[in-house]
Amino acid sequence: MTLQRRHFIQTLGATGILAAIGNPIGLSLSQAASGARIIVVGGGFGGTICAKYIRKFSPAASVTLIEPKTTFFSCPGSNSVIAGLHPIKYIRHSYDKLGAEYGISIIHDMVSSIDGSNNKITLKSGGQHSYDYLVLSPGIDFRETAIEAYNPEDETFPHAWKAGDQTRLLRDQIRSMTDGDTVIIAPPARPFRAPPAPYERASLIAHYLQENKPRSKIIILDGNGDFSKQDLFTQGWEKLYPGMIEWIGIKDHGGITAVHGANREVMTASGNHFTGQVVNIIPPQKAGLIATQTGLADDSGWCPVKPDSFESTVQKNIYVIGDSCQAGDMTKTGHAANSQGKVCAAAIVAAITGRPIMDVTYNMSIYSLLSPKYAISLSENYQLTGGRISKVSSDSSALKAKKKTRRKEAQYAAGWYKSITDDMFK
Ligand SMILES: Cc1cc2nc3c(=O)[nH]c(=O)nc-3n(C[C@H](O)[C@H](O)[C@H](O)COP(=O)(O)OP(=O)(O)OC[C@H]3O[C@@H](n4cnc5c(N)ncnc54)[C@H](O)[C@@H]3O)c2cc1C
Repeated sequence: MTLQRRHFIQTLGATGILAAIGNPIGLSLSQAASGARIIVVGGGFGGTICAKYIRKFSPAASVTLIEPKTTFFSCPGSNSVIAGLHPIKYIRHSYDKLGAEYGISIIHDMVSSIDGSNNKITLKSGGQHSYDYLVLSPGIDFRETAIEAYNPEDETFPHAWKAGDQTRLLRDQIRSMTDGDTVIIAPPARPFRAPPAPYERASLIAHYLQENKPRSKIIILDGNGDFSKQDLFTQGWEKLYPGMIEWIGIKDHGGITAVHGANREVMTASGNHFTGQVVNIIPPQKAGLIATQTGLADDSGWCPVKPDSFESTVQKNIYVIGDSCQAGDMTKTGHAANSQGKVCAAAIVAAITGRPIMDVTYNMSIYSLLSPKYAISLSENYQLTGGRISKVSSDSSALKAKKKTRRKEAQYAAGWYKSITDDMFK
């Protein structure tokens, strides 16, 4: 299989859904969804795709995308930026084509409240808009933590779990380190967006340190007792960065209890103190603020949805996709949000036209770079079984693999990124 073909298949696993949906409702496009008003909130991995595919399935539908930022910075690829492998423009994307080529109305503003009983949203700038169908893909918000003196907005401890300014901040702190300094990375307890990403971050920072500050170290103070693709990461770290990355699981440190900004110190329940020149605390997460504020989340902090359409089980005609929703076994990734965006788009077009929702499959792949030429991956396929999105198969990189295979996976990772962001913005 050629590399190009593999990229296509790997990436458009997401659009396998599109193929499965085809013409989702069996109508001529001009018949479909004439006049329906759809508002999509959040121009990230789920929202752009849902807006674009509603217009593809139903060009007569009026689709408005509301997103405060005029350019989007993607989290996928941001670990490479932090490690200096790419400039920030690598992860920056423009909304221009979504407006000009797909006829989506784009409003750069924040939705400050939703009136689900009267089908209305209010913008931060004060305007109001009515909808027939509302899609929310607002990503994540941070939970309160019990960490004394810690605030996610404090630039002393950048989280870089939302890309953009935070990515630059963490990159610049890493650049300013002196050889021999320590980086602390503290992932929260699961579930959080992109479960392998903290360990990809540790790997790529190690790559930078090995080349520029080889006496430095990374300590991972994990909020979990194990982690995604652990065997593969550990094997890669031993090969690429022997002795440079130390992973400490929750059982051994007991959880972070406090931080001390002045000397960048982290205190743990086990009584140990860790000091790092760079301290990257990744806060625990929940559904995006607008979703929780509208009462769409349950006690878990995430929004329950109907698994065949992503319509909220709490409020009719509001759909929640991406990281904010509870999607059964699906991992919270950009690729999963892409898959959900397409299923949701087809379900909305079906609802407008009174047709049944089609059976679909869902999928996601996530690549993790351990160095520019060494990557590993995980792919999962899901189906609706017993009213739930259940994993039916998964495939991860083999532990026993040649250098050439890891190198190829690094090329596929770049292809995956280009294809998924083209799907969103081109
Ligand atoms: C370091 C890192 C690496 C990652 N790597 C990968 C990877 O390799 N592969 C992968 O598949 N996934 C990866 N992910 C996960 C991926 O970024 C998320 O799963 C994905 O972004 C979720 O899509 P979303 O649409 O739910 O949210 P987002 O893409 O975050 O989009 C949410 C958008 O909603 C907007 N918004 C929020 N509230 C409002 C409001 N009230 N009004 C209007 N707009 C609003 C925000 O401005 C934002 O642009 C990574 C994540 C991180 C942190």
